[in-house]
Amino acid sequence: MTIPSAPSAPSATSAHSTRRLSLLKPTGHLTLGNLLGALRPMVAAQQTADCFYGIADLHALTVAHDPVALRELVREQATLLLAAGLDASTLFVQSRVPAHAQLACLLECVATTGELNRMIQFKEKGRGVDSTKTSLFTYPVLMAADILLYRPTQVPVGDDQRQHVELTRDVAVRFNSAYGAVFTIPEITTPPAGARVMDLADPTAKMGKTGSDGAGVIHLLDPPDVVRRKVARGVTDSETGPEAIRADREAKPGVTNLLEILAACGGDPAGLTTYGALKKAVTDAVVAELEPLQKRYSDLAADPDHVTEVYAAGAARCREVTAPVLAAAEAAIGL
Ligand code: AMP
Repeated sequence: MTIPSAPSAPSATSAHSTRRLSLLKPTGHLTLGNLLGALRPMVAAQQTADCFYGIADLHALTVAHDPVALRELVREQATLLLAAGLDASTLFVQSRVPAHAQLACLLECVATTGELNRMIQFKEKGRGVDSTKTSLFTYPVLMAADILLYRPTQVPVGDDQRQHVELTRDVAVRFNSAYGAVFTIPEITTPPAGARVMDLADPTAKMGKTGSDGAGVIHLLDPPDVVRRKVARGVTDSETGPEAIRADREAKPGVTNLLEILAACGGDPAGLTTYGALKKAVTDAVVAELEPLQKRYSDLAADPDHVTEVYAAGAARCREVTAPVLAAAEAAIGL
């Protein structure tokens, strides 16, 4: 059995001066979209930054959830992050670093209901329902705590989270001017456009962990025959002939998505003349991409104590890094 060696988190004094923080929500099984759009760039960032990667289990509680399923998803995601090659990062589960919830409590005394009411995601998720979990409303404040605790100078953020990071900045500025300069105000940066993998059954929608019935979603632990079936049933169009195999996101979203997945997984469309051949090439490329990850996953899953130790060491480092920030915030606000 081969286990990638990551017995402990990187030391408190990392060789990299820039910090990077990303949290993934364990609200479903990770997908090929997560791998190509998030995990790959996270692996690459380990070369240049001191990376903190967390599993946002507290955020997963803001929507309907089943406790047993959540615990299982956290365990699976924790193992998958290691299997994907994040072994030079500080990996942690958010709830195991109590400073996140503690700082969120203080920041709720700085953020206002007016601001939270303006959050587009809250409006969208709460649309048409009389009442939601309170945590769905206050989620952006917990996210502000997630960020501010690590004093990053830059936060690369996609469009869907931009408003939340703007709120983070506003809250930090207000806290600093009311109580003293505790927080670094992070700049918002736009990450380079990454791969955007679309749902195979509905190529106008993002391939997501939740939201569709899963027929067009490739999960990272799908065995080869499942990948084959999902790709084979993927939507294309009625054009025929070799010229039909071309990228055109507007007119041919299904074929374009297949071509992009093929390229991202190291495949080559040269010489393909039918959609059947394209789908076979995509299947082969995706299966080849997932195979080593799935092998590492099953090795790691056979040694759960190792995974537990990696995350315990990660949480310990997070507690060490965040303790002075929480202590400064508590002292400044009068506790
Ligand atoms: P989510 O699964 O929506 O919580 O997103 C977690 C991370 O994966 C974010 O960085 C997303 O941008 C990325 N991601 C999720 N789905 C896709 C997709 N279909 N294509 C590319 N990136 C994705």
